[in-house]
Amino acid sequence: MAVRFVDLEDRQGKTSLFDRYGRRIHYLRVSLIDQCNLRCVYCMPVRGNHFTPKAEWLTPEEIETIVRAAVSVGFDKVRLTGGEPTLRPDLLEIVERLAGIEGIRTLAMTTNGLLLPKLAHPLKQAGLTRVNIHLDTVKKPSLNRIMLYTRFEKVWAGILAAEEAGLLPIKLNAVVLRGYNDEDVADLAALTLDHPWHVRFIEAMPLGPQATVALERFVSNAETKARIEERFGPLEPAFDGQLVGEARMYRIPDAAGFIGFISPVSEPYCDSCNRLRLTADGKMRLCLLTDHELDFRQALQEGGQEALQALFARAVRAKPVGHQLRSGVYPLIRSMSQIGG
Ligand code: SAM
Ligand code: SF4
Repeated sequence: MAVRFVDLEDRQGKTSLFDRYGRRIHYLRVSLIDQCNLRCVYCMPVRGNHFTPKAEWLTPEEIETIVRAAVSVGFDKVRLTGGEPTLRPDLLEIVERLAGIEGIRTLAMTTNGLLLPKLAHPLKQAGLTRVNIHLDTVKKPSLNRIMLYTRFEKVWAGILAAEEAGLLPIKLNAVVLRGYNDEDVADLAALTLDHPWHVRFIEAMPLGPQATVALERFVSNAETKARIEERFGPLEPAFDGQLVGEARMYRIPDAAGFIGFISPVSEPYCDSCNRLRLTADGKMRLCLLTDHELDFRQALQEGGQEALQALFARAVRAKPVGHQLRSGVYPLIRSMSQIGG
């Protein structure tokens, strides 16, 4: 029997899921693995991490089945993340399977870039649309302290490889922490002068075991923007001042690229949230910053596509209105590396 959705609407000939607050939910982030080859100070503790055993990872086939169900209820954007997604030995198979699903507009990946010199071209060939690469600073001593344990040259090589492979536009993500990289933000922004890249500054969010780092070292994006403007003068609003994804975009006059500010703490954008997040072990997280999850692997095993479609509808219906950081409520069950940002 076909599943019926009370909140499945047909707008402009397209099937879409809307939540109780009128938000269209159509963006699925898929964490492929909770392991990482780095230990960024705001994300993962250096020691004491408990990783999902490989046997419990969703298989490429299971991921494809869940994404097919998502597309059938109106999802059209998928992002692969982690942990570090490039550590999945079957990453290319996963990308190929997802790229073959009709109805996906964007198939992107978020990565620390370290393995892109080897993987950028095969990923592009497998059907990946583009990548967001994580670079917290261009100052080598600061990078050595915040992105444990790598070197600037390695991330840089990954960025160039992605650009060369045509995984465009290149978007760089930087989390700003006081005493680590807050004084380097104008140097990072300066990359946009000559490169057509999007350099995006993200406010540190308190969650999981590293929550206190984010709380104690928090820097608002208003402060980051002011520092950049001290060097370059007023930034020009870009893209009509609209949010692009979750980023408010600007540019240095005459620069080749853009500067974005993602401000989940100081300026929450929950009212325009359009996403759900699948974890590597098959749980669907309804909000990044709320510990509420539904078991999609169980639905897949017990009921296949129909059960998954029904669970998507339930997940969207149950999606919280927003996070409660301002009331001091932090999600503690999972770290960012277990959800994928
Ligand atoms: N390993 C990949 C990477 O670093 O891009 C993908 C996973 S990582 C969890 C995704 C994004 O989340 C990265 O841009 C990272 O900087 C960001 N991130 C991690 N912990 C964060 C936190 N506590 N607050 C804000 N952003 C965070
Ligand atoms: Fe790994 Fe990404 Fe977390 Fe850094 S931010 S520890 S690269 S998952």
